[in-house]
Amino acid sequence: MCKILVCEDELSIRSFVVLNLRRAGYEVLEAGSGEEVLRLFAAHPDIDIALLDVMLPGIDGFETCRRLRRQNATMGIIMLTARTQEAEKVNGLKMGADDYVTKPFGIAELLARVAALARRLSSKPDTSVNLLEQLQSGQFTLNLRQRQLCRDGVPVELTQMEYQIMEFFFQNPGKPLSRAEILRQVWGDDYIGDEKVVDVNIHRLRMKIEDNSSQPRYIGTVWGMGYQWNG
Ligand code: CA
Repeated sequence: MCKILVCEDELSIRSFVVLNLRRAGYEVLEAGSGEEVLRLFAAHPDIDIALLDVMLPGIDGFETCRRLRRQNATMGIIMLTARTQEAEKVNGLKMGADDYVTKPFGIAELLARVAALARRLSSKPDTSVNLLEQLQSGQFTLNLRQRQLCRDGVPVELTQMEYQIMEFFFQNPGKPLSRAEILRQVWGDDYIGDEKVVDVNIHRLRMKIEDNSSQPRYIGTVWGMGYQWNG
């Protein structure tokens, strides 16, 4: 069963979200502050997905996200952003979130996003790919069994989404891939967010694997289209 942590200081919203997630069959923990999230996570490191409101009384949702990511690269994180500004969404994704939902949200939309993320987090690699233990590209190695990227034998810590983008790159070296293709491959056909999520994840990947992320050598930009792996 998928274990979900809901962090929201407004009790009426939190209770409503928690109730509906429980009805949908999830095991749910709840927190009213970022500090409480970190305490709960220490006691329950098997949490699969965290829903984090941005506006919180102590440390905000972004900082909570950043600290959670530092402890766990692979859990799913969805930010609940109160404002509709693009900057705030992008900010959340930069801190390591996998997705965001803008408030006010319909409970059906939130449940759909949670279900989609839960499905992606538990997705297994293709059986055709599974026969291969690892893929090599220049100084990079992608271990498909351990779902790990190494550069010169040194592991690079990736989120699940980042790993899946790298897997798609490794399967298509030197081929321009559009944002829509990457979105479909990694986030799935049913993803209802926008393509910005691809750019932010690419930005994070570049920070992790490029020598100079502003002059990327491995993850090239294909102008007006998307990205290309030049490993
Ligand atoms: Ca709040």
